[in-house]
Amino acid sequence: MSWPKRVASGVLVLTLVGCSDNSPTAGVPSETPQTHAPVAPVRTVRPTLAPAQAKPGASSNTNLMPVLDHGPRDKKQIALTFDADLTALMRRRLQSGKVKSYYNKALIDELRTLHVPATLFLTGMWMEQYPQVTKELAADPLFELGTHTYDHRGFTKNCYTLGTVPKDQMLADVRRAIVELDKLDPQATRWFRFPGGCYDATALHELAPAGVTAVGLDVPGADGFAKAAQPIVKQVLDHVQNGSIVVLHMHGGDNAPYTAQAVGPIVKELRARGYQLVTVTQLVSRR
Ligand SMILES: [Zn+2]
Repeated sequence: MSWPKRVASGVLVLTLVGCSDNSPTAGVPSETPQTHAPVAPVRTVRPTLAPAQAKPGASSNTNLMPVLDHGPRDKKQIALTFDADLTALMRRRLQSGKVKSYYNKALIDELRTLHVPATLFLTGMWMEQYPQVTKELAADPLFELGTHTYDHRGFTKNCYTLGTVPKDQMLADVRRAIVELDKLDPQATRWFRFPGGCYDATALHELAPAGVTAVGLDVPGADGFAKAAQPIVKQVLDHVQNGSIVVLHMHGGDNAPYTAQAVGPIVKELRARGYQLVTVTQLVSRR
């Protein structure tokens, strides 16, 4: 399923995001050749793109949250990103025992085994559910952590089945997740991702004071509610290019059950094609 383009303020276009109400893209797997040497990650404290200030007297364009959809197209680098959704409904499924866990440890283990730097976007509710895991991820130099709102509601009307955060609660919602991340990760980034990729000029304006940069994407992994790993592999490998930001998910469970199986073939093929896998911070760092 491709998500529609959304245009904010005539300048920002977010294409599509795989998310909690996503469906897989059908396809056939590609071959998956050998791996490369691991890439040493570079950690930067609290990176962001020219954070909006929203101070009295600021010009209108600094009153909007900045948005990043991809990195430079002249470098063979790609950022794999993984969102940890947790909604009120998902939490009820956890509490009832219908779902064992919304932490896809097998995926994280695979990233560690393959030495893949990655940027992880965590909802506040997920961090509350898994505080120790969040600390462990924060302490791992492979990963950098950003936020994904508190409880994964939408920031526009009709954001799939995610509901809508009222305008006057948007800033508080995003800040709630930032506060939670800062408690658990002393090196927390100021990267942020909108649930469902849903935003408009109103949301960008309301959230400017949060001081975070929205990280979009140009390649949806389509791992949400996937029925197999192979279509995920094909979806990513068919669409990546220099500077791509790929969205996948790290909550696993019934919402993203095949991401761990897909990530190995994806990583190996991208490295075989000569791509360096990097965090979002590394992607936008000119070296
Ligand atoms: Zn999400």
